Amino acid sequence: MNKYDSELVAGILKSAGYEAVDDIEMADIVLINTCSVREHAERRVLDKIDSYYTAKRKSPHTIIGVLGCMAERLGPKLLEMSPAVSFALGPDAYRNLPNVLELHRSGRPHTDIRIDTNTETYTDIYPSRCKGISAWIAIMRGCNNFCSYCIVPYLRGRERSRPVDDILDETRKIVNEGFKEIVLLGQNVNSYRYGDVDFPRLIERVSQIDGAERIRFATSHPKDLSPDLLRIIAGNEKICSHIHLAVQSGSNAILKAMNRNYTREHFISLITRAREIIGDPGIYTDIIVGYPGESEQDFEDTIDLVEQLRFDGVFCFKYSPREGTKAYELKDDISEEDKATRLIRLNALQKQIAFERNSKLIGSMQRILVEGPDKKRKAGHFMGRTDTNKIAIFRHKNQVSVGDMVDIRINEVSGMTLFGELI
Ligand code: SF4
Repeated sequence: MNKYDSELVAGILKSAGYEAVDDIEMADIVLINTCSVREHAERRVLDKIDSYYTAKRKSPHTIIGVLGCMAERLGPKLLEMSPAVSFALGPDAYRNLPNVLELHRSGRPHTDIRIDTNTETYTDIYPSRCKGISAWIAIMRGCNNFCSYCIVPYLRGRERSRPVDDILDETRKIVNEGFKEIVLLGQNVNSYRYGDVDFPRLIERVSQIDGAERIRFATSHPKDLSPDLLRIIAGNEKICSHIHLAVQSGSNAILKAMNRNYTREHFISLITRAREIIGDPGIYTDIIVGYPGESEQDFEDTIDLVEQLRFDGVFCFKYSPREGTKAYELKDDISEEDKATRLIRLNALQKQIAFERNSKLIGSMQRILVEGPDKKRKAGHFMGRTDTNKIAIFRHKNQVSVGDMVDIRINEVSGMTLFGELI
């Protein structure tokens, strides 16, 4: 979502006559788009601002702005924390960016803009996208779920959906620019609704656009993923067999404490149903370890769930307390050491499961959307993704180009990557 927002900001600035430069030394304006979901992300931003301070001392006219959730959360405090920062602009205030920059350039600096409208969708703004084959479109902004550990609803506001026609128009433009894959984005895309159009109807309409060869979406909340959507994924070749569904914990007690509004049993039945309806989709999840009060047994329940459901990928994180959330009021009582041990154990288990699942694909044929040369290997290799979102590498033949859809036969796997030969 933040990468998309950066493209949105680039679009706003391009329309206002600004030009992006590749080299930071050449920039008159440096904008840092930030994330507040974990403390670690914020610390990295502060380090980055420190390094820009040196640049600013060399050319004091450089304007350094902080955008995004950290700007919304800290506002004027950010300016006190670093003399390098010229202004802070929250996620609903990007339309004001050209005005803020003009004020700075004319010597009347505006330092902190946070707008709490809960209505902004930027639906009329066309992002300036990085080149590639895959383009993101935000179909909604904000979140109503208030998971106890999460700062997002406080910083990005309540859920609001973009008009269907705007999303379809943007998809047509993206396809005309040469993008092949569309990723529909939202904090919880399954609760998209505009008039009588819900998410399953929207994704179907996006898939009907000529040139949109693959459609993905991120991310879903387990309480809202419907059988209707699963049937649409199963019956529509353009919609990828790829579901990202955050479980966060395998313990009912922790799920309740997290205010996730589903049980472990509900989650297991959802994944079982997804596999019954779709076949063998790529299923990915997020897990937090070390949430306050997570006992050894709670963690064992998570391990058990991962063993039972055998995901294709798990993104594991250590719990990070965020001020302003419900969980922040609880004692962060799991030691760093225990959090780290649980994280290592979970990652090791998932690595083994992913390897076993991928090994079953040896000998199979997979359709790949070619993304580009594989930078890690010698020249002559391309990388792409399966519709289940697995990375696949194959030897390059002259007739293959970036953006092509090709079939490869898998003959080897290593960890998370598939290797194959062009058919
Ligand atoms: S669904 Fe929960 S974790 Fe996801 S953005 Fe909303 S509040 Fe945060």
